[in-house]
Amino acid sequence: MAEATGKLLIATGNPKKIEEIRAILAPLGIDAIGLDQLDGDFPEPVEDGETFEANAAKKALHYAKLTGRTCVADDSGLEVDALGGRPGVFSARYAGVDGPREARDEANNAKLLEEMGSVPDYERSARFVCAIAVAHPQAGILIRTRGTFGGTIAHEARGTNGFGYDPLLRLDDGRHSAALSPEEKHALSHRGQAVRAMASRLEQLVASNERLLA
Ligand code: IMP
Repeated sequence: MAEATGKLLIATGNPKKIEEIRAILAPLGIDAIGLDQLDGDFPEPVEDGETFEANAAKKALHYAKLTGRTCVADDSGLEVDALGGRPGVFSARYAGVDGPREARDEANNAKLLEEMGSVPDYERSARFVCAIAVAHPQAGILIRTRGTFGGTIAHEARGTNGFGYDPLLRLDDGRHSAALSPEEKHALSHRGQAVRAMASRLEQLVASNERLLA
């Protein structure tokens, strides 16, 4: 396995995501840093893509060009079949509430429960989706991966771990996603799958071109 000495930039201000991605990349000898570890002010791009893939690619390219570094970005959300795939790329702002993450999550979950109020159990299928893109400042998009984590939308919130819609996604074993420990969730989740697939492709690319992370 090639030891990569450079650092991959993770384009997110969410410390939980940085921690998760770093933990998966570390055994591969790939070090990752967050935007907050770089000097400078980096304006956020507008996330106006129609798909998770488009938003992830846009963010990765935006920060790769601004910083001159190879950069990974993700976009994720919840797709509910009975709602035609909504909230989808609007998952974070579904209820239109501003403010701290906890308040937004609570309002989003309340809105989802209300919209799903009359939907029968057999039509409540849903999944979290995570799209990841890695971009190089000159070469453009190098890697795209996607992971999904499915279940059904429960009738009530349960569990205290995780964030977002975790209390409402009921898994096949009857537990809600918010009942999983962080380790269990990383092993199964849409983000864990997409990050691991990205890491193995990145490892191959770095092995043939160490300057990718220079
Ligand atoms: P972002 O990728 O941070 O923009 O997340 C989009 C939104 O999707 C979050 O605010 C959550 O509402 C939802 N979401 C994404 N991943 C998860 C997850 O693992 N659990 C629960 N909600 C999630």
